[in-house]
Amino acid sequence: MKKTTKSLHTKVDTQLAHPAVTPLYQNSAFESQSEFFYSRKNNPNVQEFEEAVCVLEESKYGIATTTGMSAINLSLSILKPGQTIVLNKYIYGCTFKLFQWLASHYGLKLVVEDLSQLSEVVHHADFVFFETPTNPFLFSVDIKHVAASYKKLNSKCVIVVDNTWATPLYQQPCSLGADISLHSATKYISGHSDVMGGIILTNNVEVSERLRNQRFYTGANLDPHSAWLLRRSLYTLEVRLEKQGETTRRIADYLKEKSEVSKVYYPEIDGDQLKNYATLLFFDLEISMVEKYPQFSDHLSLFSTGTGMACVTSMVAQPYTGSHASMDDAEKGAMGLFPATIRLSFGLENAEDLINDLEYAFKALH
Ligand code: PLP
Repeated sequence: MKKTTKSLHTKVDTQLAHPAVTPLYQNSAFESQSEFFYSRKNNPNVQEFEEAVCVLEESKYGIATTTGMSAINLSLSILKPGQTIVLNKYIYGCTFKLFQWLASHYGLKLVVEDLSQLSEVVHHADFVFFETPTNPFLFSVDIKHVAASYKKLNSKCVIVVDNTWATPLYQQPCSLGADISLHSATKYISGHSDVMGGIILTNNVEVSERLRNQRFYTGANLDPHSAWLLRRSLYTLEVRLEKQGETTRRIADYLKEKSEVSKVYYPEIDGDQLKNYATLLFFDLEISMVEKYPQFSDHLSLFSTGTGMACVTSMVAQPYTGSHASMDDAEKGAMGLFPATIRLSFGLENAEDLINDLEYAFKALH
């Protein structure tokens, strides 16, 4: 045998390695006796990530995807032509655009409702999609109430909750009547702004099989390296959230006293649906100061600008020109989003240092 052939077939027996944590399976192919057929279908790192999130969210089945948007897109494959979607009025900009395009392209009916104010359901729906707490404004949608109301009119109606901002630790939508819960794992689950991912959770075996097959056929599976990083991030989710939550409460109180701030948005923590909360806050700048937002953000040295959030370092953003930039002015106006609204995301810095940094930036507005 030529040494080049021998070198090609040189392989360590990994059965003898006994690693203390699961190594990275950076491979697309598996041998025929493996239960992992092909990484587009499944991979040990992806499966471990799914199982670890299922434990935290108390769900039976997890389906990891390349990003949060691909998790949302995959959930939409449940829909059939001619069906009716209800979408909450307060929603991430790209989600709104995806639903708008999908409805017009595939002949679906799209109804936008304020589900945070829902009392009586008036519409028949086949698919209801909302975030709670919402992006923007952190409004709460009552998962039990929405699920019961829509299912009363149509028992087959699929209730989907984007649980990204609540996290698997603090809210379990599938225990409250939702059929599907999903996350942008890019945010809280990653926590380090260095990896993208998404995950769908469900207790329904048929929904799980359907979406798992669809993920295989559309190539939406998370890659092994991202899954390995996300699994590693999960080890510290609880301690990150505890520290970030403390800072969030402290800074919410600080902002309420500021003359430059007209409103602070903080979600309702009822202990039943949302068990705790961390990291993101919105506030409205006094109307006379809105044009000076660039001065405010320029004077912050501990908050970076940009679209990221829920990272170990703090961030500041203006949703009007950032997370909701893909929506036009009229669409943003309809959800009550204007340039005055500012989003803060708190990292693991000392809370006093963050307050001093904010204080300096508020002074720059005068
Ligand atoms: N859902 C929510 C609530 C978000 O805020 C975002 C992104 O900001 C997404 C979904 C999309 O996630 P990704 O960027 O991982 O595709």
